[in-house]
Amino acid sequence: MELNTQYDVAIVGGGPAGLSAAIYAARGGLKTVIFEKALVGGQITVTAEVENYPGFEESVSGFDIVEKMQKQAEKFDAEIKIEEVKAIGLEGLCKIVETNKATYSVKSVIIATGAHPRKLAVPGEEKYTGRGVSYCATCDGALFRDKVVAVVGGGDSAVEEAMFLTKFASKVYIIHRRNQLRAVKILQERVFANEKIKIIWDSVVQEIQGGDFVENLLLYNKKTKETSELPLDGVFIFVGIIPNSELVESRVDFDEQNFIKTDETMHTEIPGVYAAGDVTHKVLRQIITAGSDGATAAFSAEKWIEENQDNF
Ligand code: NAP
Repeated sequence: MELNTQYDVAIVGGGPAGLSAAIYAARGGLKTVIFEKALVGGQITVTAEVENYPGFEESVSGFDIVEKMQKQAEKFDAEIKIEEVKAIGLEGLCKIVETNKATYSVKSVIIATGAHPRKLAVPGEEKYTGRGVSYCATCDGALFRDKVVAVVGGGDSAVEEAMFLTKFASKVYIIHRRNQLRAVKILQERVFANEKIKIIWDSVVQEIQGGDFVENLLLYNKKTKETSELPLDGVFIFVGIIPNSELVESRVDFDEQNFIKTDETMHTEIPGVYAAGDVTHKVLRQIITAGSDGATAAFSAEKWIEENQDNF
């Protein structure tokens, strides 16, 4: 494959971290490209209401935020290429980014590949995905008007999406494996106050059952050791996220869950290689922290390029 144009910064992933990195890098005068394999925007595009992004006192959709970020990045001449990065050569001073379409030589790389939903890994999950099992309430919630659904998980996503589903469903069960939610307090209070939501504590899903579509959950109560059946029409699974970090696997430092470890400048162990957003090891995964990571990574990349300018 032909070796293509040289970029100062190649950003892998077009979510809030990647887009923020692009805004800062391109505005700083660096020749910047984002490689995004599917749709620009990342996981947040399926969040219907974002209430805590500063500057928007009325809630705003995730889609609207990233659309603005994309326009802002393009205003500063960041290029966005819908290409899937297949490999990154990190050995030399210049890095080699291989996509499904071309090979690029770049001075620095920012990994902003995000994360994807963790599966429950129970019988029936795969069979009924798209037939009652979903990982996206915004995408599929409206299909369950006046129906009974369950949300599995106890974190911010599960609780927030359960609230969203009450707009459509007649009843929303939250099935959580402990007797305490992980979600932040304000979301917990809303869930407890919502009459359409019932929490099934200390329980795990053993099997998702049905005919052509989901009809029933087999539940196991970890405290009483009893199994029970829960008839319903849909199951939304929000049991955490898995980092999309395979591209740099075994070449940078990871935590025990494969999130990439960086220092406070978003630098990985490899000179000129940075990571930002949900793919990194961090305490808070939000649009604002992804944006902050992206800005910091771009700033660090700019400094690194300046310091090494004579050697490229
Ligand atoms: P999370 O915070 O990791 O929560 C995952 C939940 O699923 C936990 O309650 C966990 O139970 C449960 N779980 C994990 N594996 C399970 C299994 N095999 N079976 C049953 N339950 C299982 O994940 P998340 O809610 O997707 O959130 C991901 C990140 O995005 C977090 O940092 C979160 O704060 C952030 N986020 C923020 C917002 C917001 O600010 N509005 C919204 C969405 C997400 P345990 O509690 O027992 O571990």
